[in-house]
Amino acid sequence: MRIFAVGRNYVEHIRELNNERPDEPVIFTKPDTALLRNNQPFYYPDFSHDIHYEAELVLRIGKNGKNIPEQFAASYIESIGIGIDFTARDLQQKAKDKGLPWDIAKGFDGSAPVSDKFIPVNNFPDLSNINFRLTLNGEARQEGNTGLMIFSFAYIISYLSKFFTLRQGDLIFTGTPKGVGPVVPGNVLHAFIENEKLLEVEVR
Ligand code: MG
Repeated sequence: MRIFAVGRNYVEHIRELNNERPDEPVIFTKPDTALLRNNQPFYYPDFSHDIHYEAELVLRIGKNGKNIPEQFAASYIESIGIGIDFTARDLQQKAKDKGLPWDIAKGFDGSAPVSDKFIPVNNFPDLSNINFRLTLNGEARQEGNTGLMIFSFAYIISYLSKFFTLRQGDLIFTGTPKGVGPVVPGNVLHAFIENEKLLEVEVR
């Protein structure tokens, strides 16, 4: 199982971080040691002073594929969950300034909490109209709709599969909408798809 992720897929989030709008999806990966399941707490690491939440829809791949044409790519989605792409923004900024890779800023232990429940893809009438949101200590912080993505699920899967053979069980974080921000110990994050709460993460 691999964890792929797409950066800069929502225009308003690109603006809030003063990034360039990409011509192709910005791809990075996280190791499986980044995964947090079962609503396990997130332990604030001592190597960063600026950990940010990024709520994202997460695709679970249902079958193996390589060079998948975009028009068939949606059939590779088995189910959709929600996750948080925790980012050490200070380390990421350092890397960006020097044009260096983001691995430690994005892939550190516990940086990928993912909901236990994934909703079967057939339960969604329209993949380009899915609402999701994140609250911090009960207050709304992020609201997204897949209609606002620059690159659709199908495009992302097709694009990724040019470079990486996709395997059943792989996860793809599909980008965060605007409203990212820092967490501190004691914060509790809740993430929802439509009105269903699927993920809770306590920061310790
Ligand atoms: Mg992200």
